[in-house]
Amino acid sequence: MVLRVAVVGSGPAGSSAAEVLAKAGIETYLFERKLDNAKPCGGAIPLCMVSEFDLPPEIIDRQVRQMK
Ligand SMILES: Cc1cc2nc3c(=O)[nH]c(=O)nc-3n(C[C@H](O)[C@H](O)[C@H](O)COP(=O)(O)OP(=O)(O)OC[C@H]3O[C@@H](n4cnc5c(N)ncnc54)[C@H](O)[C@@H]3O)c2cc1C
Repeated sequence: MVLRVAVVGSGPAGSSAAEVLAKAGIETYLFERKLDNAKPCGGAIPLCMVSEFDLPPEIIDRQVRQMK
């Protein structure tokens, strides 16, 4: 049986799900209603997510370990 999956929303959750599905060989369609999405995000993620999301080290601007 051929599986086809539609993922609605291409935020971090939808994009990650679509990537995993596509890498598993499942025909995946990712739908996003707002393609000009300029999200008001601080741009920070926990350091542990770098390896979990397999992010390339060159996109890391700086590592923050403490804040006041
Ligand atoms: C001001 C602000 C700052 C933030 N800063 C940070 C930060 O620095 N670091 C951090 O880790 N997190 C930050 N966050 C939180 C982070 O943005 C969210 O946790 C994250 O985006 C959630 O991901 P998501 O995929 O669940 O949802 P979303 O990112 O909200 O993605 C959902 C997507 O689905 C689309 N969608 C919805 N309905 C439909 C539909 N019917 N058809 C098609 N598309 C649809 C939307 O357009 C959207 O693109 C911040 C949030 C805000 C509001």
